[in-house]
Amino acid sequence: MGLHILVINSGSSSIKFSLIEVDTHKTVISGLAEKLGLETAVLHAKHNGETQTIELEKNDHETAMQAILKTLQEKGLGKEIKAVGHRVVHGGEYFSSSTIVTPEVIKAIEKCVPYAPLHNPANLIGITGALHAVPELPQVAVFDTAFHQTLPQHAYLYAVPTEWYKEHGVRRYGFHGISYRFVTQEAASSLQIPLDNSAFVCAHLGNGASITAILNGKSVDTSMGFTPLEGLVMGTRSGDIDPALIGYLSDVLKKEAHEIVDMLNKKSGLLGLSGLSNDMRELEAAAANGDERAKTAIEIFVFRLAKYIAAMSVSLPRVDALIFTGGIGENSVLLRRKVIERLAVLGYFIDEEANGRTIRGKAGIITNQQSKKAIVINTNEELMIAMDTAALVKS
Ligand code: ADP
Repeated sequence: MGLHILVINSGSSSIKFSLIEVDTHKTVISGLAEKLGLETAVLHAKHNGETQTIELEKNDHETAMQAILKTLQEKGLGKEIKAVGHRVVHGGEYFSSSTIVTPEVIKAIEKCVPYAPLHNPANLIGITGALHAVPELPQVAVFDTAFHQTLPQHAYLYAVPTEWYKEHGVRRYGFHGISYRFVTQEAASSLQIPLDNSAFVCAHLGNGASITAILNGKSVDTSMGFTPLEGLVMGTRSGDIDPALIGYLSDVLKKEAHEIVDMLNKKSGLLGLSGLSNDMRELEAAAANGDERAKTAIEIFVFRLAKYIAAMSVSLPRVDALIFTGGIGENSVLLRRKVIERLAVLGYFIDEEANGRTIRGKAGIITNQQSKKAIVINTNEELMIAMDTAALVKS
């Protein structure tokens, strides 16, 4: 029996889990405890193709963690777990790689709470819940920000008073690092390029979306900033706007600055533009039926992304390949075609047939022979967390 790692992604009202056999990359069981903090918290667990739903006695994170472990034990999987790997959103400047959880590590994650007030407290509850439930197992923290700690100063500093950085940590941190590290390794291997001599522009396009320039396996520029709000147009986030809008809207809408920021995070992006949905599939269907706002939302998403691909290319000495990943990057034939059409100036030309067939878990090059390479790679953040956890536990 190979090494099994329990991967935990604890959010404010949910805990996602999966048990991964590291050697085979197989997900043995996975699931989701949801509606935590609400009246009816439930746990769904998928094992051998069957989904089981269990009502939770209490609606807190610790009860959910215990229910997850009980479910694993009932299925005879409890003894297989050798360590627990936790996704942690913000590691600030404290963490440039994954780490075994110690009391000092917990303190440092707590210090990053002001930077990620929704995510880090939930991540910490996941860690403490697991520490109580399985104190005998090593726990590992894997950070979304860690990969971007290699950003050079010219990429991470904003052009604002330097004291803001020194005294208040105001800088670009970047996110989606777990995904970037995974897909970069996969792309290098698939294209048979040594990772330590590679140059990729990588677009992670999910509900949240960002883009990163990666040189020799290291992040050198990225579009998300102090928070995940900056950069590309996303499902519900605006991405880049003129920061002066916050003061202006605060005046005209008679709202506090944090309420405007909340609307930029939750009511903007594809949802705000279309007035319909944050989901690219739904927008593509609506656009095909002639919905003008859905068409506009997609155009703006594409335009911003194409501009950012050009900008990220400038952060690299050359580009070996443009990588698409995340739900939209891995599945939206339309979006990829529209973006590549805008990139003719940089030497990218679509292969319609290859683009059309590279969906639903398929990976591969989607540009033609004359083109610079664009490739679709399927991300697997859970597997990356499991591999990091296994490596730290083994060492
Ligand atoms: P998250 O960031 O929440 O992990 P995902 O990476 O799963 O999100 O991406 C979700 C996005 O991917 C949604 O906008 C969804 O519509 C989009 N998506 C998934 N499948 C398709 C598809 N076949 N065509 C277009 N968009 C798709």
